[in-house]
Amino acid sequence: MYGKGIIQGLGVTLRHFVDTYLEDIKWLGKKRYYSEEGIANRMSSETRGIFTVQYPEEKLPVPEEFRFIPFLLYEIDEDGKQQDRCTSCGICAKVCPPQCIWIVRTNDPETGRPVPEPEEFYIDVDICMNCGFCSEYCPFDAIKMDHDYELAVYNRHARNIYNKAKLSKPVSYYASIRPSNYSREEAARAEAEAAKAARKAGRR
Ligand code: SF4
Ligand code: SF4
Repeated sequence: MYGKGIIQGLGVTLRHFVDTYLEDIKWLGKKRYYSEEGIANRMSSETRGIFTVQYPEEKLPVPEEFRFIPFLLYEIDEDGKQQDRCTSCGICAKVCPPQCIWIVRTNDPETGRPVPEPEEFYIDVDICMNCGFCSEYCPFDAIKMDHDYELAVYNRHARNIYNKAKLSKPVSYYASIRPSNYSREEAARAEAEAAKAARKAGRR
């Protein structure tokens, strides 16, 4: 019979419509919308009724390895000052396939000698292709890929060249979005420090 598929399709839609209300009643008192638990439930194979995400009020959690625009890491020293991890070595700018990183190196005003920190650091986020090469090749774990994908602006020519201030985020932020990567890197760092200390002690 012609149109049988259409009727079946409408039946599926109607079932989802009714199921949505039944699920809402089942979840009374618990948050089915705008909560991590609710999103997890609607993402599962057990879900019934509406499973669309109410973006932007709700957002799907991204996996740890999700990568968007890079950001620069800084530590806070004992005096509360921001210490960039970046040494302005320039490796990330060299390996960046579309060449969207610009670094201005710092020079000591008295001696004119280079200081291992960037005076400025720019990334054109319209050109960045989110490949993650900069992060992979950085020898100092100073640049990492961010999870923040909400970068829409009204004037991209004026707003989408990020400078050092806009790119810089604390190490604690990195630890919060990539906990297993952070732990692995910190363990490797501690191991390298211990090996270095042991070598030094052996030479004495
Ligand atoms: S982010 Fe890393 S690779 Fe890029 S200049 Fe800084 S230290 Fe070098
Ligand atoms: S993610 Fe890729 S394209 Fe973007 S700045 Fe890093 S190396 Fe360049």
